Amino acid sequence: MPSEKPILFPAHTDQLMTTYKAIRGMVDILPAATPLWQSMETTALEVLASYGYEEIRLPVIESTGLFARSIGEVTDIVEKEMYSFNDRNDDSMTLRPEGTAGCVRAVVQHNLATTPQRLWYMGPMFRYERPQKGRQRQFHQIGVEAFGVATPDQDAELIALSRQLWRRLGVDDALTLEVNSIGSASDRARYREALVAYLSDRREALDIDSQRRLQTNPLRILDSKSPDTQEILDAAPALRDYLDSESREEFDQLLAYLEALDIPYRINPRLVRGLDYYNKSVFEWTTNALGAQGTVCGGGRYDSLVEIFGGKPMPAAGFAVGLERLILLMQALEITVSSPADLYVIAADEGTYRHTLPRMDALRRQFPDLNIVQHLGGGSFKSQFKRADKSGASWALVYGETEVTNNQVTLKPLRSEAAQRTIGDAELTAFLADFLAETQRA
Ligand code: ATP
Ligand code: MG
Repeated sequence: MPSEKPILFPAHTDQLMTTYKAIRGMVDILPAATPLWQSMETTALEVLASYGYEEIRLPVIESTGLFARSIGEVTDIVEKEMYSFNDRNDDSMTLRPEGTAGCVRAVVQHNLATTPQRLWYMGPMFRYERPQKGRQRQFHQIGVEAFGVATPDQDAELIALSRQLWRRLGVDDALTLEVNSIGSASDRARYREALVAYLSDRREALDIDSQRRLQTNPLRILDSKSPDTQEILDAAPALRDYLDSESREEFDQLLAYLEALDIPYRINPRLVRGLDYYNKSVFEWTTNALGAQGTVCGGGRYDSLVEIFGGKPMPAAGFAVGLERLILLMQALEITVSSPADLYVIAADEGTYRHTLPRMDALRRQFPDLNIVQHLGGGSFKSQFKRADKSGASWALVYGETEVTNNQVTLKPLRSEAAQRTIGDAELTAFLADFLAETQRA
């Protein structure tokens, strides 16, 4: 052990026990919640594959400059939310606060953008924010990014894909689609002037953040959560009056596609999104079921980012789903998933237990979709049944001496009024096939 590192291993001579807690805003996802996470993730994978999107896996750490350059210097994320540090070589690194920048970096670096790409990724993101329900410092996103198509059929496909996911998860009724067009960079420059002129005359009445943004990033004022500022904005110039004909036409076309897809939407003229790289059509899916943290998904077009990162110009669009908020929504809607155990195996004693071992092994091979949980550690029937109940299993497979002698098993229902019965080993297979078919997982 090199002597210059003792600080990592302080000698707790006077205090043997130290308790640690997870860092504020970093959350453990416990076994009680993981079944819901896994089922959500599996569904998302299926939906993404069904639209031909491919997974890309990206580092969690990137150069700090990558985020400053793409997200924008004057955004909440870059100004105050990044986990940045200097590594041992004194290079500035940042735990990724979002995934688009890294994804575009990878697409350019590996020259993927020569043909259209449909990509997705999933993983943790890090932002130093005030933790509250639906807002953490480490949280998770699924990001979906499509490169190479400039027309609004691409935007429509992304929205359709997200709606498909909500449907499959059973949350679509609780989510509303908001859409807007923020035009081109030059549209926004012209609008910015008009907005600044209007707001400068009313500067004193704005909230502090908005006063500051008046100089730095005035469009973000539209997004202000202050009611006073929002009231002032009611009479402000409207962004849509500054859009060029291309942005307008493409937005209208997107709306027409949404109508063809039968996706209800609300045009929100103040939807600008918190990151600088967006242009043209942007959207968010919001819910009333989660209080203040009601945006579950947000995205839009970002046609200039590939070029900014040194690639050949290539249009792009994407969105990110906040997975904690999606899970909270599923929980609020009382969406549950099947228990981790289907069958709980109880054996009378050591010899009986040994009798069950090869049988359960074979059953797991024959029925890979069945969750067969074996009781371990012995104990009375009474105590084993208690555990069986807790496991959430539907049936207990009970092996006593009689069952072993006769090559039988007793089936005891744990959560239904079905009759208890003792059947031969051979009949067990048919019983389990029926059970699987009933639970619709066969
Ligand atoms: P908000 O306005 O709620 O801060 P945002 O505009 O910063 O959201 P995006 O950068 O668009 O969020 O990220 C996409 C999605 O990721 C959000 O809609 C949200 O569902 C989720 N998200 C963002 N920040 C957090 C966080 N700190 N904790 C949990 N989820 C988050
Ligand atoms: Mg934010």
